[in-house]
Amino acid sequence: MAHEVEQPTYEVVGPLDRFDERDTVFAREAYLPGTPEEIEYHARHPELLEIDRRLARFIQQKIDNPPEVPQDPLNEAFYQTTFGSVAPLAQPDAVDGPVDSYKVKVDPETMSRRIKVMARRLGAYLVRIGPLNPAWVYTHRGIRPFFDGYRANPPLFTGVPEGYQGLKYGDPIEIDHQYAISMAFPQDLSLVRTGPSLMNDFETGRVYAISALAAVQLGKYIRALGYPARAHHLRNYGVLAVPVAVDAGLGEIARCGYALTKELGANFRLVCVTTDLPLAVDRPVDLGVQDYCEKCLKCADNCPPRAIPSGDRVVVRGVKRWNVDAEKCLLYWGSQGAACGICQVVCPWSKPRTLFHRFVAEIATRVPQSRRLLTKADDWVYGATYKPRPAPDWARLGQAPP
Ligand code: SF4
Ligand code: SF4
Repeated sequence: MAHEVEQPTYEVVGPLDRFDERDTVFAREAYLPGTPEEIEYHARHPELLEIDRRLARFIQQKIDNPPEVPQDPLNEAFYQTTFGSVAPLAQPDAVDGPVDSYKVKVDPETMSRRIKVMARRLGAYLVRIGPLNPAWVYTHRGIRPFFDGYRANPPLFTGVPEGYQGLKYGDPIEIDHQYAISMAFPQDLSLVRTGPSLMNDFETGRVYAISALAAVQLGKYIRALGYPARAHHLRNYGVLAVPVAVDAGLGEIARCGYALTKELGANFRLVCVTTDLPLAVDRPVDLGVQDYCEKCLKCADNCPPRAIPSGDRVVVRGVKRWNVDAEKCLLYWGSQGAACGICQVVCPWSKPRTLFHRFVAEIATRVPQSRRLLTKADDWVYGATYKPRPAPDWARLGQAPP
């Protein structure tokens, strides 16, 4: 396939250290002061105490002062609709489970083709298969699983139910599968463009939900063929989805921290299934993203809290790449009361999939000399500065007039 290369375009400059999910900002924002997890974590990381208190403030405020009357009840209910629906798919018996005793004989090439067809039938727009690098497996469980006792927004931990057999917070994660099937699900740009907003939350959660279901279904399909498989999605990741997708050739790691694809830019959500089903692997790709991001700073310039670096790549756990300040990003989301998504929208690669935009993406990948001009052209045509669009009419239907 065009653009395929032997090695991913991120630069490995040292040993690849595995990441602890307890160190992600989404785990740390839930360290409410005085909880056993918080005390244990900050005994190990006193340097993070102050920033984590700020991260936890948004959850703490909702506990201390739950809003009695929502400001926008019709649209605030979106969160439960989309993100809340994913909770049952996080259960251990959804992401993993018993493997059928009858093992179907498979040919790796044929099986890869079938898995890709299946993934597309389940809703994936892009699907690629790569080897699973053990360095991308989290060392420990950090995000708590969701159970019936949760109040889903924010995700408050209310205890482990009787009989629960899955991984709990702090448990080591071991996944030794050979392959990872990465799937990308596009978001509706017209909704993401309203962000930070409840509409962007709706679209993000909607796509996370359908992609989580597809990953769970694909995992179940593979186990029914007699091979181990584990789904990884929003509510239950065991691996770092971005480098896993990059290794499979879905795209390249970009300045904004997402995997940038030729087809969808950065405007999609990622899930994957790891497995030992014999499969033929795809190769990584070089789309010219490293060079393009050197010349284009649009996401960095438009990021309200300046979480995206304007400067050079740095070494992060053995990989040289742009390092997004996830703390600044999440603090900004908290201050807005909704997810942002501006970097996904402004990226020149995130465009509707029209013939014209596909042609421009083709030029960007194949003609390095065109890239500086294309970044300028994107500013001229779409504007250099992000302006949110109003919510669509249907999102205002039924609301009281102002
Ligand atoms: S989501 Fe918003 S705040 Fe976060 S990195 Fe992107 S532009 Fe910046
Ligand atoms: S906006 Fe520009 S710099 Fe940022 S990820 Fe997209 S191409 Fe790279």
